[in-house]
Amino acid sequence: MIATKMFLSWISLLCLCISLQNILCKLTVDATSSLGNPTVVIVGSGIGGTSCAYYLKKILPDANVVILETDSRIGGRIYDVKIDGEVFGIGGYAWAGYHGYIKELVDEMGLDRTDRDFDGEPNFVSPFTFTAWNGTHLIDTREIVKAHEESMEILENGTVDFYVRMEDNYALRGYETFSEMEKFLSYGALGQWPTLESRQYYTNGSVNLELQDLAMAPLQEFINSQGLESHVFSMYTSLSAFMGTGRVVGGNLKLVDALVEAASAEVFLNSTVTTVERLSNGFNVVYQRENEQREMYADYVVIAAPLEATEINFQNFDPPVSKPARDWYAAYSYIVTAEGYNMEYFTEDPDRNVSGFIIGIPGKASGLASITSISMGDLIYYKVTTTRNFTVDIEDMFINPSVRAEHHWDFGHPVLEPHTAGGATYQDVVLSPGLYNIGVMNDVMSQMEGSVIAARNAALLIGKESLNASCSICLIPTIQAKLIIIFTSMWKFILT
Ligand SMILES: Cc1cc2nc3c(=O)[nH]c(=O)nc-3n(C[C@H](O)[C@H](O)[C@H](O)COP(=O)(O)OP(=O)(O)OC[C@H]3O[C@@H](n4cnc5c(N)ncnc54)[C@H](O)[C@@H]3O)c2cc1C
Repeated sequence: MIATKMFLSWISLLCLCISLQNILCKLTVDATSSLGNPTVVIVGSGIGGTSCAYYLKKILPDANVVILETDSRIGGRIYDVKIDGEVFGIGGYAWAGYHGYIKELVDEMGLDRTDRDFDGEPNFVSPFTFTAWNGTHLIDTREIVKAHEESMEILENGTVDFYVRMEDNYALRGYETFSEMEKFLSYGALGQWPTLESRQYYTNGSVNLELQDLAMAPLQEFINSQGLESHVFSMYTSLSAFMGTGRVVGGNLKLVDALVEAASAEVFLNSTVTTVERLSNGFNVVYQRENEQREMYADYVVIAAPLEATEINFQNFDPPVSKPARDWYAAYSYIVTAEGYNMEYFTEDPDRNVSGFIIGIPGKASGLASITSISMGDLIYYKVTTTRNFTVDIEDMFINPSVRAEHHWDFGHPVLEPHTAGGATYQDVVLSPGLYNIGVMNDVMSQMEGSVIAARNAALLIGKESLNASCSICLIPTIQAKLIIIFTSMWKFILT
């Protein structure tokens, strides 16, 4: 009898150890762990792909991370150019105060940023200090703001509420992962806003129509390349974009470079992924490089680009991987030097009210999103952002213009239509077991931070899964629960 009890006590202690190990494994998934050395192939080297590589390295230090990039440079929609010794950001440029992870990444990489940490209650800083160009004349938005104080108060309260909810979202998510967008939006109760059209929402909330058309619509055009038909979530990201805005000193590309280095990820440029094929135990990733088709094995694949932009053929998936029916605005960016604005084009002096910043209105016929001007020495540098090719227009807009740099993306910003119940649904975060989708976050926010949130989530999901695989018995919750029950009942028996 004593021998049986001793044997059972050993068995029960073993059960307890396995259960505790499981609990400890789970608790340390956010910190570094040496469990698992999977091969992860990331498609795309934008801020999404590179931050995912970095987070993966933190969670699974022995993981083998490879980034495949179709372009001849890294960064995707982040792009800096150096002209006359000055760095101009002509893609993803600035973050907002509540964009917590990108700021954390910048600090972890030891880079300097232009903003200061935001502390205390969020303050609404009116973003309406620009000149709006409606195609025939210029409007000083500060005058509009003065004329509509009550509406401004409504906007202020709504924007601060959004900001606080975003902060709640960060706090509530913590190290939790989400497999679908609805779960992400449930943190901080953000779910209603991507389902409503901005125009309808603000009109119902008694925001004056003139303020909407002459100030809010141009702002939304500037930030997200669209107007008031977009959803409220995107309008709020535009309204709060100026609250604590910041960027990396020397350009955001520095962050992308630093992330790749910190992740010690292998990056293959000029490498276009054409096929992802599911195998019985992982994936075969087919890519085109130097006119040659190549293949690579992966335990996990992360699509760090708008899925529909990748043109990847997914083979052997059951159910099949479907691409979203989502439209996009193209983005064109130019740096122009000139002697000034051409008054014949603008009919009035664009600098008469608010110098340096003109934003076009929605009305896609125009296509002008914004012009920012900076005087340096004898020259004026203009950063022009548009949704169509503006080379010909630039000739008319400025006196003696010279285009010093230009870049174009077919997939600039997604059309942020409301996701109505029963209508358009979100892309999947987990496209299939082991296949993750960072581009999904574009459905709600077309901002660098959105890609970082999704990248961090994908890395945590892979970390958990990899941990499960390398600790298969102890990490299955039902088995863990059973082990604890066995432990307790055995000790009840031993003690009787
Ligand atoms: C003009 C402009 C201004 C912007 N300004 C701001 C701003 O001020 N603040 C802000 O927060 N956001 C801004 N954004 C949005 C922001 O830049 C993006 O949301 C963010 O950079 C997207 O990062 P990503 O890594 O998810 O995707 P991307 O940067 O698009 O990266 C995807 C990468 O995948 C690659 N790729 C695609 N298909 C394949 C394939 N088959 N094989 C291999 N590689 C592939 C692409 O070449 C690309 O490099 C701006 C965007 C534009 C266009």
